Amino acid sequence: MLNVKTLLFRVCKNTTYLLKKKNITENLFPVKETKLIFTFHFKLKICLKMKDELSLLHHAISLAKKSIRDGGGPFGAVIARDGKIIAEANNMVVTSHDPTAHAEILAIRKASAALRSHDLSDCVIYASCEPCPMCLGAIYWSGIKRVVYAAGRKDAADAGFNDSLIYDEIILNPSERKVAFIKESNAGGKEVFKEWDKYEGKIPY
Ligand SMILES: [Zn+2]
Repeated sequence: MLNVKTLLFRVCKNTTYLLKKKNITENLFPVKETKLIFTFHFKLKICLKMKDELSLLHHAISLAKKSIRDGGGPFGAVIARDGKIIAEANNMVVTSHDPTAHAEILAIRKASAALRSHDLSDCVIYASCEPCPMCLGAIYWSGIKRVVYAAGRKDAADAGFNDSLIYDEIILNPSERKVAFIKESNAGGKEVFKEWDKYEGKIPY
């Protein structure tokens, strides 16, 4: 059954279609009214998109709440394409004995598997909380172009999930970090890239 907003959207869409037929526009509507209807249609589309995005974000939050009861961390994430859910996940660091099992990482892995592609550039990720530096990196590697999140990094820090050390460390030279980074320049690491460069069967990403 159609709800009022969907009905209004369809009426507006049809009206806009009619307006695009120039002779009808000129005969039936003055320019001012035509512009108003176009603007209304545009704003309505944005409004409906925001409503859809909010419901996806609420779903990510519900996954985070459920995760608490299931023994996971309080985080959830959803990946969607054109408003349709491709993958969803909750934090499973403790339950799967995996320090990288953050909701966003797991959702990216599931979405990539579902779409059989390492490129998620046409997807959006909805997260119950601002992604940590690890997940931020994964989001960039996945090609995702839009991140919608609810709680911020300060909220997470207040709950005991403090990312500030990692943010501070990233900008330092490796030798200045708290974790020891030992660079062995003569160990042959560059040879790997030379092989990659020469390999004709490679799939660049
Ligand atoms: Zn994370």
